[in-house]
Amino acid sequence: MAAQETVDHKYVYDFSEGNKDLKDLLGGKGANLAEMTNLGLPVPPGFTITTEACQAYLATGREPDGLAGQIEAHLESLERAMGKRLGDPRDPLLVSVRSGAKFSMPGMMETVLNVGLNDQSVVGLSAQAGQNDRFAWDSYRRLIQMFGKTVCEVPGEEFEHALDEIKNAKGTHNDLDLDADDLRGLVDAYKKIFLKHTGREFPQQPREQLDLAIRAVFESWNAERAVLYRRQERIPADLGTAVNVVTMVFGNLGPDSGTGVAFTRDPASGAQGIYGDYLANAQGEDVVAGIRNTVPLQELEQLDKASYDELLGIMARLEEHYKDLCDIEFTIERGKLWMLQTRVGKRTAAAAFVIAGQLVDEGLIDLDEALHRVNGAQLAQLMFPRFQLDHEFEAVAKGIGASPGAASGKVVFTSARAVELAAEGESVILVRRETNPDDLNGMIAAKGILTSRGGKTSHAAVVARGMGKTCVSGADEIEVNVPAKRFVVAGQTVNEGDVVSIDGTTGKVYLGEVPVMPSEVVQYFEGSLDAEHVDNALVRAVHRIMTHADGRRRLAVRTNADTGADAARARRFGAEGIGLCRTEHMFLGDRRELVERLILARDADGREAALEALLPLQRADFVEIFREMDGLPVTVRLIDPPLHEFLPPLEQLAVNVAVAQERGEDVAKEEALLAAVRRMHEENPMLGLRGVRLGLVIPGLFAMQVRAIVEAAVECAQRGGDPKPEIMVPLVGAVQELETVRAEAEKIIEEVTREKAVEVLIGTMIEVPRAALTAGQIAEAAEFFSFGTNDLTQMGWGFSRDDVEGAFFWRYLELGIFGISPFESIDRDGVGRLVRIASEEGRAARPGLKLGVCGEHGGDPDSVHFFHEVGLDYVSCSPFRVPVARLEAGRAVVETGGSDSR
Ligand code: ADP
Ligand code: MG
Ligand code: MG
Repeated sequence: MAAQETVDHKYVYDFSEGNKDLKDLLGGKGANLAEMTNLGLPVPPGFTITTEACQAYLATGREPDGLAGQIEAHLESLERAMGKRLGDPRDPLLVSVRSGAKFSMPGMMETVLNVGLNDQSVVGLSAQAGQNDRFAWDSYRRLIQMFGKTVCEVPGEEFEHALDEIKNAKGTHNDLDLDADDLRGLVDAYKKIFLKHTGREFPQQPREQLDLAIRAVFESWNAERAVLYRRQERIPADLGTAVNVVTMVFGNLGPDSGTGVAFTRDPASGAQGIYGDYLANAQGEDVVAGIRNTVPLQELEQLDKASYDELLGIMARLEEHYKDLCDIEFTIERGKLWMLQTRVGKRTAAAAFVIAGQLVDEGLIDLDEALHRVNGAQLAQLMFPRFQLDHEFEAVAKGIGASPGAASGKVVFTSARAVELAAEGESVILVRRETNPDDLNGMIAAKGILTSRGGKTSHAAVVARGMGKTCVSGADEIEVNVPAKRFVVAGQTVNEGDVVSIDGTTGKVYLGEVPVMPSEVVQYFEGSLDAEHVDNALVRAVHRIMTHADGRRRLAVRTNADTGADAARARRFGAEGIGLCRTEHMFLGDRRELVERLILARDADGREAALEALLPLQRADFVEIFREMDGLPVTVRLIDPPLHEFLPPLEQLAVNVAVAQERGEDVAKEEALLAAVRRMHEENPMLGLRGVRLGLVIPGLFAMQVRAIVEAAVECAQRGGDPKPEIMVPLVGAVQELETVRAEAEKIIEEVTREKAVEVLIGTMIEVPRAALTAGQIAEAAEFFSFGTNDLTQMGWGFSRDDVEGAFFWRYLELGIFGISPFESIDRDGVGRLVRIASEEGRAARPGLKLGVCGEHGGDPDSVHFFHEVGLDYVSCSPFRVPVARLEAGRAVVETGGSDSR
């Protein structure tokens, strides 16, 4: 039965059989080629081999049963349709063999053009093209080059070297100056290189070429750089790539031919218009590789008006069909336009917001869809600062603003050096003539990327945008000399290690370090830019989408803030209260003295004196915070970390005592301190005397804090304010702990609020696994739960956070044990399950129990979606993350659950 299934399994789809929704099976490229075919657009005929075939190949090391036969059948019908046979000596059909995974992985995998050419068919191709020998031999040398490099791992430089030699011999820099004889000579040279590296002649059998190319595309899925890229982009490792076999069309047939790439809107700013690059008399890869300098697409209007108009018509049609920005690849063969690729295009964060807003205006999508199309990571990017420019700074060069942001750093010229310096903690700018997939490590390590060649669609531009990294491409005034480790610009030499600044929005390059200023989006959130009146497409789009998100979201968003200033800022950013006000910092600075006295007190009197001195200071802290958050809930956590953190380090103290004794000084006080520090030393402080345990051990400590909170609230209320204090007990694992604290706190609340009624809630953190598992009991004594997911992760996994991230997380990520650090994004299955259990059992015991989260996960987009699903009431995060959480909480509501939202 299993065998039956494999025989019948369909591994190959004609373009006419697929559609854009089959990306899982056909990959993005194949699905969209099918979609365009079915829209009646001019796509060269072809077929797609499925990702399932690739998965089967990668699992077993051989083509699955039935695949060869299905390829044969589809090839035959392609040959019938074209009236040519693959590699026919007189009139050959040629094909490209193109990778194409579900998610775009620019430049990561392989494509081989001109498959089907050999020593005979090259002559037929020439005849077919009107005795165009130059074209035929150019196509043949490209096949050997691409096939050699991608299929047989011949080092690419060898081919480039041979090409350079011939050009040098002719005294030219331009490929187009080489004639048919030169190219025939080049083919000979290439074949020798091929033989030298592979030990065999370049394969002359067209079908063998095809099969080997298909196999190479399958295998390119696991190429090192592809693996690295997937990890960076969080693309699952087991998807595999589809393979597209596409009838060749030729942009290198002469001046009336050419090839280009285009966007239906500006992928950097979102502005409407025509954005693209065109290269006459060239094959597609020339544009993408940024090898020759392209012309703006608008110039095609002069060169070939009919094709230009047709292209614009198709672009409009695609936008309307996909209801989004599309990017395309096209080729013109002797005045005939062919569409070679389209997809919903990558874009910058700013463009994502602007375009979503425009599409709403144009009636193509609604606001829910607009909200779905942007995300918190993009919003976070837009909150980065930008360069602050005054007369002192003049740009020395201007390239293309390929990926926004402001980056300064030391210049480096190789990927390896970038990685090295970054590891030493330096900010670096990677400068290259153009980047290629081998530069990926350096690009990840660098703060920004600067290239002297290539347009908005070059490798550097596309990859940098994907990473959210600042990039200026095509700054052609810069002369890069990699071996000499320097570049020259405007008569000045910049050496490795010199500092430059690049602006990925304007494309400008500056020498030295330019200071930065806050982003417009932050200014808007802070209220200093009014979205209704400012002429700024981005601010208006952000305002509109944020307003919609706020209208849609069910989760409230609070902030973590310990000071009045933080609280005020977070409130401007839209925080609806404080979810976590830590009180530890209130014991530092000049108050440390008092804490030492508290710890060292020999008797109740000494302790009480210290607490009494601390009380008014604490009260003043809370008054300020309640004032800033007037009318909104403020959750104050009673003191959490181990007290010894407030004392001097043991070694230092021991030395001080020894030195003082030596000198015969009075050391009684130091010795007492030292003894206390010794007594309190813990092997595992994170699992030691902290949180509620401390409150139960040091009499009066929690009582003092509770009194300070309630007195502050009463003071505010008496002045006409509306404070909403919530007292939160940390590190509770058993309901009895909470009950004990609660009993004491209630007495104080009763007493203090006698003069002025203020409602005070008492609740607990859920951060110890036992608390999550006994939540039903704990809820009896708690009016709210706040999940402390940092500690819950730490204790749930048994990870000492301060140790594990540096020690072995890299290895766990590499092995795929987790795709992302569980401290960054909540582990849904484990820690998330604890949250779910505690929520359900807590609410069952006490309907209306307030539930929130105050770990760093509260500002992480994926985690916000999870907390929405679980049904929490709010998330709390750092002030800067508040807008991100608001947006994601809105997205969580409109999300249809599609996995295709990246
Ligand atoms: P990538 O995914 O790296 O863009 P592609 O498969 O799109 O790789 O191909 C690389 C280049 O070759 C592109 O510019 C593409 O337009 C061009 N190309 C691919 N197939 C054909 C074809 N059948 N005829 C002409 N050009 C092609
Ligand atoms: Mg490619
Ligand atoms: Mg492409």
